[in-house]
Amino acid sequence: MKTYHDIATDGGSDVAGQVRAQEARLHSRLADVGHIVAVMSGKGGVGKSAVTVLLATALARSGIRTGIVDADINGASIVEMTGVGRKPDRTSKGVIPAVSAEGVQIMSIDLFLDRGTPVEWNAVTQKSAFTWRAMVEVAAIREMLADTLWGPLDILFVDLPPGTDRLPNLLDLVPELSVAIVVTIPSRASRYVVEKSILLARPHLGDAPIGIVENMSEFVCNSCGEVHEMFPGSEGVDFEQDAHLTILGRIPFDPELSKRIDSGKNYLGSGTSKSSGGVGVFSAEAAIQSIAENLNRLLASRTIPAPTMEEVR
Ligand SMILES: [Zn+2]
Repeated sequence: MKTYHDIATDGGSDVAGQVRAQEARLHSRLADVGHIVAVMSGKGGVGKSAVTVLLATALARSGIRTGIVDADINGASIVEMTGVGRKPDRTSKGVIPAVSAEGVQIMSIDLFLDRGTPVEWNAVTQKSAFTWRAMVEVAAIREMLADTLWGPLDILFVDLPPGTDRLPNLLDLVPELSVAIVVTIPSRASRYVVEKSILLARPHLGDAPIGIVENMSEFVCNSCGEVHEMFPGSEGVDFEQDAHLTILGRIPFDPELSKRIDSGKNYLGSGTSKSSGGVGVFSAEAAIQSIAENLNRLLASRTIPAPTMEEVR
């Protein structure tokens, strides 16, 4: 078996050539994709994958062609959340992505595994396990992007794994990122990690704007019926640190949303979204809809070149 040790000397297998060929295939595969949107988070457990599924679904419901690459190899959850079938069809040209009931195209390592099977990386030695794992992970994602027969797509979401260590590698895989979405919750710890990951990701984002989605911002109290903050007294993200930051929206916590997405059922348009609260309208569904519209607006602004000073005058 070839290992990464062979790459330094090549071992006669022309690894560099293979990677170049795969990169060329990746670029031609993604030629029919209008926008690539990366979804990241600092910490795990903030609902990053759920937000990805909900946004892709909201946009698909309004006629925009969306797809998701589940790049969270070890924590793949998109297949479970969308309830799509496993074992995708292969043709000589590539793998056909699964399609959700709402029309979202999905590619995940989970599609190829029996349900509940974890991904095991075999390293040569325990000492090399970390480097090996990171490398195999990046290779697996590159392969998933390059070998999938994406139809024409308006937006392809890349659901990145949580954490900051391997983010730069993964972002470098994606040609021409349009927008990076950062999902956070209004806790001090989450804000701290999110700010670190933004700093780390910035050099790899080019001039792509970062859209912040604050998840689980508030909830309707069962006893008084009023809207309460999930993390009272917490602060939002510090916008001073990056001129490209923009708030896409806040999603209130709705137990019904968690229940449905956890069992692979669609939440949007299911009629289960709660509208309540003394202060304004409280609805996770309305919030997701508005975030999807804001994202669309942000993407539209990316395709129109900025006016020159002469035009402004
Ligand atoms: Zn209360």
